[in-house]
Amino acid sequence: MTAIVLDGKTMAQEIENELLERIGILATLGTVPCLAVVIAGNDPASHVYVRNKEAACSRLGVMSIRIDLPESVSQKELMDVVSELNNDEKIHGILVQSPLPKGLDEFEVTESISPEKDVDGFHPSNLGRLVMGLDGGFLPCTPAGIMEIIERSGTVTSGKSSVVLGRSRIVGMPLSLMLAMKGVDSTVTVVHSKSVEPREICKAADILVSAVGVPGIVKADWIKEGATVIDVGINRVLDNSKKSGSRIIGDVDEGAWGVAGRMTPVPGGVGPMTIAMLMKNTVISAERKS
Ligand code: NAP
Repeated sequence: MTAIVLDGKTMAQEIENELLERIGILATLGTVPCLAVVIAGNDPASHVYVRNKEAACSRLGVMSIRIDLPESVSQKELMDVVSELNNDEKIHGILVQSPLPKGLDEFEVTESISPEKDVDGFHPSNLGRLVMGLDGGFLPCTPAGIMEIIERSGTVTSGKSSVVLGRSRIVGMPLSLMLAMKGVDSTVTVVHSKSVEPREICKAADILVSAVGVPGIVKADWIKEGATVIDVGINRVLDNSKKSGSRIIGDVDEGAWGVAGRMTPVPGGVGPMTIAMLMKNTVISAERKS
């Protein structure tokens, strides 16, 4: 068996096309969605992520404002910037790029973003709404993008067994809630670094999602024949055949393509969907305001 490719790039393009229509309607009401991105320090990967987000904004005609802060920025200076953005009527979404420079309290910064502008979906109020099954908040972008892949690919979830590897605040934990929520109705197991016999647990999954950050941790013999496999991992490994000397691979070993029924590639799977969901949240925020 060779797994069907769950093409995140194409699905993200579909979502962008849907958003273009909604942005057109907003324009007739005199509203242009606007995303503010704050980046502190010089982490090269963070700068690439921010550029990708800016490129998505420009494709869609979403206004983007970028605020570059030095590595030496203080907690107070950063919080003051967020406070200004909270009070700026024309801004619909605020994103503070992670990781922050050493010494800064990321949780305090997240908490200071107005929940109505928290398009990353990490504010405790938005995560709380997710736990309570309440609409009207923002869903975190990577798990929401994974749910879109599952939905758009016609993967049946009700009554199925889902296993999520990883329990982070940004991916694993919110995703496990989304997979278990009413209407999705899968039976969820969360695997983490203290789990015993992860291979046996994963092998029982109809839907297997890996968000660990260890290259190739999920082997072909961890996967049930025909399962849907979503690889969230982004791992840079050395590759001398590449001009850059490295390449990106996921958490799931290449051999899995011979066992899974459908699988996301890395790159080109979850990554583009994460950005599409950020755009979607920004448009939703603008719609709520207009
Ligand atoms: P994280 O905060 O480091 O969390 C990793 C999780 O994996 C933790 O819950 C950890 O367990 C678990 N883990 C570590 N070693 C394990 C093992 N041997 N067996 C089972 N579980 C293990 O990472 P993250 O932020 O969620 O990101 C995970 C991966 O997804 C990274 O590669 C990241 O780059 C990627 N990512 C991709 C996107 C995208 O858009 N494509 C977005 C976000 C993240 P404990 O809790 O017990 O420590």
